[in-house]
Amino acid sequence: MTSPCLSIDLDKIEHNARTIVALCAAHGIAVAGVTKATCGNPEVARAMLRGGVKAIADSRLQNIQRMRNASVETLFMLLRLPALSNVDEVIDSADLSLNSELATLEELSAAALQRGRIHDVMLMLDLGDLREGVWPDRLITLVKQAEQLAGIRIKGLGTNLACFSGVMPNRDNMNYLVDLAAEIEQIHPLRLQWLSGINSSGLNLLAAGKMPKRINHARIGEAILLGRETTQRNTWPNTYQDAFVLQAEVIELQKKPSVFLGNHCEDAFGKHPVFEDRGDILRALLNIGRQDIDIEAITPLDSHLTILGASSDYIAIDASAAAASISLGQTISFSLNYSALLAAMTSEYVKKYAFQGSLFDQGILHAVRRF
Ligand SMILES: *Cc1c(COP(=O)(O)O)cnc(C)c1O
Repeated sequence: MTSPCLSIDLDKIEHNARTIVALCAAHGIAVAGVTKATCGNPEVARAMLRGGVKAIADSRLQNIQRMRNASVETLFMLLRLPALSNVDEVIDSADLSLNSELATLEELSAAALQRGRIHDVMLMLDLGDLREGVWPDRLITLVKQAEQLAGIRIKGLGTNLACFSGVMPNRDNMNYLVDLAAEIEQIHPLRLQWLSGINSSGLNLLAAGKMPKRINHARIGEAILLGRETTQRNTWPNTYQDAFVLQAEVIELQKKPSVFLGNHCEDAFGKHPVFEDRGDILRALLNIGRQDIDIEAITPLDSHLTILGASSDYIAIDASAAAASISLGQTISFSLNYSALLAAMTSEYVKKYAFQGSLFDQGILHAVRRF
């Protein structure tokens, strides 16, 4: 394997998906597996599908197209609201899109009709997180107008929480979603097939049995990929947190002072770093940097190693406590949180290796699939 790279254990992703799908199924909820943090990686999507997710959801059209081109067969949901300039591609690529703007729905409808199609949509409701979604007092009007559009079919109502403002999903906002759905169905001859209430932040509510019965859909990314719920980033029972491991190589290993010499100015990123004087330390430079990862969002698996800082192309590590075992050319492994995963998956400088089969843990390389 070349470095830097990201190892992806597809079996662990499949296992995590199975755990989450079983929990959701026990509460009458179907799961769409969210692949956006992996840039729509087809192997990851397939692992999620083996684990039982009913659909794949991604925020970007290019990612959905990438999975379709790789012959991933499932229903594809577009999570990010469509741009007016993209409606044709949305109709061609996504089976369902999330929407909150009448003008966009009108364009989607026209584009669908032009192709002799009907496009499914889920209307998004903002229940306070202040990202996408129509405000509740305008929902009924939006439904009334959207219903007139012959090229779209309103399949459901959804809300997204704990993303932009960190609003907790709870019984109250979930009940509100259910109540609004009932109100819509009373006014219109319309049955909302899906009430999509939660992402990975809703698992606690679900496990506590506090989810209203009518909520029957969830869009889950992080809990499947990284094995965590997202209200406090607690590990989720019976999931792996290490399906993804980042690896970079030691390209300089030298004893140097722990504090810089000379007068101080800004560093490469306009900061004034402060270092504690601990005398000379063994400093390792690795071949990965801020261009490829979120430096605050990775942790060395070897607890003897400490990240000192990073520039665009290097991470500096204090390896003093691992002096006996570290060497030039050695690979150092890191766990990642969501933002590091997102960045590493997006960086074309970080090679991705997906493993399937129990050989992964033994590091046997012929099980490697390159892509
Ligand atoms: C990203 C996203 C999700 C998935 O969120 P996770 O916290 O990763 O489970 C769900 N819904 C929408 C609309 C999203 O954009």
